[in-house]
Amino acid sequence: MSVIRQDDFVTSVTDALQFISYYHPRDFIRALGEAWEREQSPAARDAIAQIITSSRMSAEGHRPVCQDTGIVSVFLKVGMQVQWESGADIESMVNEAVHRAYTDPANPLRASVVRDPAGNRENTRDNTPAVIYSEMVPGDKLEITVAAKGAGSENKARFAVLNPSDDLVQWVLDTVPQLGAGWCPPGILGIGIGGTAEKAMLLAKQALLEPVDIHALQARGPQTRAEELRLELYDKVNALGIGAQGLGGLTTVVDVKVRDYPTHAASLPVALIPNCAATRHLHFTLDGSGPASFEPPRPEDWPDVHWAPAADARHVDLENLSREQVAAWRPGETLLLSGRLLTGRDVAHKRITELLARGEPLPKGLNFSSRFIYYVGPVDPVSGEAVGPAGPTTATRMDKFTDAMLDGTGLLGMIGKAERGPAAIDSLRRHGAAYLIATGGAAYLISRAIRAARVVAFPELGMEAVYEFEVENMPVTVAVDARGDSIHRSGPEQWRMRIAGVAVETG
Ligand code: SF4
Repeated sequence: MSVIRQDDFVTSVTDALQFISYYHPRDFIRALGEAWEREQSPAARDAIAQIITSSRMSAEGHRPVCQDTGIVSVFLKVGMQVQWESGADIESMVNEAVHRAYTDPANPLRASVVRDPAGNRENTRDNTPAVIYSEMVPGDKLEITVAAKGAGSENKARFAVLNPSDDLVQWVLDTVPQLGAGWCPPGILGIGIGGTAEKAMLLAKQALLEPVDIHALQARGPQTRAEELRLELYDKVNALGIGAQGLGGLTTVVDVKVRDYPTHAASLPVALIPNCAATRHLHFTLDGSGPASFEPPRPEDWPDVHWAPAADARHVDLENLSREQVAAWRPGETLLLSGRLLTGRDVAHKRITELLARGEPLPKGLNFSSRFIYYVGPVDPVSGEAVGPAGPTTATRMDKFTDAMLDGTGLLGMIGKAERGPAAIDSLRRHGAAYLIATGGAAYLISRAIRAARVVAFPELGMEAVYEFEVENMPVTVAVDARGDSIHRSGPEQWRMRIAGVAVETG
């Protein structure tokens, strides 16, 4: 029998959450390095280099790998012979750990969780509560897995109940392109097959927490149907040509994990959950001997990849930018932005467009004329930082506001991540505006380009407030140009054909 003390448990989970906020798992770092080596698409290779470089910087600086520090999931396997020395229940102890980890003054993490999700969506301010699963297992140990999952990838979870005779592989291949790039590939697909509806989803999530080992499986060969599916899906998903950040390229996934479970003879439930460039999880065991300690990756675990802007990148002065200059940019082109930007996410867009619709003035100091807006919700800064990690959020959520913003504010364009929908692209074209992307998963690297930050509107919204950032050489890629050409359409198309052996011009 082992006795688990409350303090050891809470300290271990707190430390684990801090640890995964700034250390990518070693296997994932290695997989990113292999993807970078293999990648032939220049835009995708540049994005992977940014993610690797940002990952190393996060580890060195003990600052989050992504501004979305996720919603916490905790999986507990409690040995039947474990005894607790605690006055609290498991849920309270886990949530105490989440509170401590996310409000740690040395490395504050972004509080993203809202209560009353279908109502007023009030932020809980400390990222509680976590989503907790526990099961009883034989033995006298407590096994704990913690994960923190960003919304960009979690929002792309999909589920279907297929007919037993349906083609499961085809369902995955039809589904993945529909996810777009908001899940920040390259990442991992978790596939759960069988059980019931909720069991399949749980299997997919648990599959994502397994180590990246597709190359070992390729070398030894499959022994089960689930392993056969992993190999087939890994090749076929990558052959879709989606590539890093959806820019088109050879690596969309660095692994596909499959878990299955017996199901009803009339059912074939299947769940798909992607994990993103900010893959974050840690597995450890408590045996009653004290809190857990974790071994960080060593400097040599990162591949020798150090991102620097390409020599031919276009320098853009945001203080003297005209619509004519914007019109000259082309999809795939790298820009280095210097000057002032405004920021805004969902709630700010809703408020601004409602003010515009009512013909009311915008808050004092909020002038978007000839400016770009950056879709971002940064982490709070610590001493010496203008702003904490500040990578892009998914632009698709702002599509419905785009036309009103371009019509009513004089904006020249936006910066976010992932593709835009047809209506937003059409609006960009009609307004001679452009949509740029920053690399999702390279939040710390991006934040280094932000020299100053101040809130200019809606301070009560916290990370959703509108900031003015002063940036210097902030790296972005043109995703939709002023003619309405989108790299998220052309890039994957070209690379899918290239991978299939069809000769194409990649421009
Ligand atoms: S890498 Fe992308 S999907 Fe993942 S947490 Fe960051 S912004 Fe969200």
